[in-house]
Amino acid sequence: NKFIFVTGGVMSGLGKGITAASTGRLLSNAGFDVTAVKIDPYLNVDAGTMNPFQHGEVYVLKDGGEVDLDLGNYERFLDIDMTSDHNVTTGKVYQQVIQKERSGDYLGKTVQIIPHITDDIKRRIREAAEGHDVCLVEVGGTVGDIEGMPFLEALRQFVHEQDEDDFLLTHVTLVPFSKNGEQKTKPTQHSVKELRSIGLQPDVLVGRCEQPLDPDTKEKIALFCDVPTDAVFSNPDVEDIYHVPLTVEEEGLDRYVMQELGLDERALPSTER
Ligand code: ADP
Repeated sequence: NKFIFVTGGVMSGLGKGITAASTGRLLSNAGFDVTAVKIDPYLNVDAGTMNPFQHGEVYVLKDGGEVDLDLGNYERFLDIDMTSDHNVTTGKVYQQVIQKERSGDYLGKTVQIIPHITDDIKRRIREAAEGHDVCLVEVGGTVGDIEGMPFLEALRQFVHEQDEDDFLLTHVTLVPFSKNGEQKTKPTQHSVKELRSIGLQPDVLVGRCEQPLDPDTKEKIALFCDVPTDAVFSNPDVEDIYHVPLTVEEEGLDRYVMQELGLDERALPSTER
C-alpha cells in the first residue's frame, strides 16, 4: 500500500479535497487502484445529524452510511463506491475505544489518547487501504486545530512505521495576493512551521492561489519550507472544479507523486491513459 496524506494550512475550505481527488484521478488514469479516506475531526459519529445549512449536504453511501460531502467528490472523481469505513470521525474512534474499555479489552490499562486513540486511527486507515494500490487520506480542518491533534499525532507515528517510499505528505495552503499584486508566502511558512512543531515535514506543497504561482514564489516557499522547488505546485482558481485534474496534470503533481512513491515504473504509458 502507498499512502498520500493531505493536510491543510491557513484556513479551511481551501480545496484540499478537490486537490486530493484530482491527484487520485490521475493516478487512477495511470492504472492504479486508488481509494480514499476522509478524516473529520468532529465529535459527531457521522454527518447524519449535522445541519446541512451549516455543513453542506449529507452524502449517503451505498451501504447507507451518512457521511461528509467530500466522500461524494472522491466517488465522482475516482469513479469508485466507498463504505462508511472510509469516513473516520473523532466520534467513531472514541465510541469504539470507549466500548472496548467498557468490555474490559484493555485489561486494566489506563486508556489514553496515545496510544489507544492513535492506534485505532491508524488501524482504520490501514483497513480502508487494504487491497488498493494507493490510499489518499485527507485530514479535515486546518493544521493547529485542537480537534485535529490526535489525527496528526497518529500520522506522525505512521511515518515511522511505514517505509519511506510508501508515504507522502502533501500540505495544501493559501498563497494570497497582497494589495500591490505580490504573492505572499508568509501564511504558508507559518503553517509549515506549525506542522513541523508537531513532528511532521511535508514532502509536497500545493499553493491555492488566484493565479498560478510565479517561479520566484515557488523558490521562496521551497527555501523557507525545506522542500525541493519541484515539490511546490500551484492550484489556481478555475471556473469548474472538474478542470482541477487538468491543472494538476499540467503542473506535473501526479508525475512527482508517482516518482516519489516509486510508482512510475508500473504506471501505464501516457498514450494509454
Ligand atoms: P477543503 O477540503 O479544503 O475544505 P474543498 O476541496 O471541499 O476544500 O473545496 C472547498 C471549495 O473550494 C469547494 O466549493 C470547491 O469547489 C472549491 N475549489 C476547490 N479547488 C478549487 C479551484 N482550484 N478553483 C476554484 N474553486 C475550487
